[in-house]
Amino acid sequence: MNAPAIIIGEQCRYCRKWFPKGDFVRFGPARNMARCLKCHENHLLALDVLGDKAQPMECAFCHVPWATLCERHPGEQVPMAIHSVDGTYLMACKACDERIVILTAHLYKGTPLAAERKL
Ligand SMILES: [Zn+2]
Ligand SMILES: [Zn+2]
Repeated sequence: MNAPAIIIGEQCRYCRKWFPKGDFVRFGPARNMARCLKCHENHLLALDVLGDKAQPMECAFCHVPWATLCERHPGEQVPMAIHSVDGTYLMACKACDERIVILTAHLYKGTPLAAERKL
């Protein structure tokens, strides 16, 4: 019988998945923040999406792929929001965005968004 392999890893704070320590990208002024390679790629992609240079791949929160999100909004622009979570940009579909904004309503106090969404 083989013994199970024990991998000493780290949990990505953004996607909550576990990876070996080497699979993290350190960032931030003191390099004390870390995200997994996948979340790092998604962060860079979000910057390109903001700059109109790329399309989202999926919702970073519910992981519904972009193609499915497009099917939900036939013939119209797919509403995507980008949230900055601890220094990492995460793209959110409309449903996730609405949930996040309600959960973090205190951050939006007095803003046009708060008025629009009646927070
Ligand atoms: Zn991650
Ligand atoms: Zn979503």
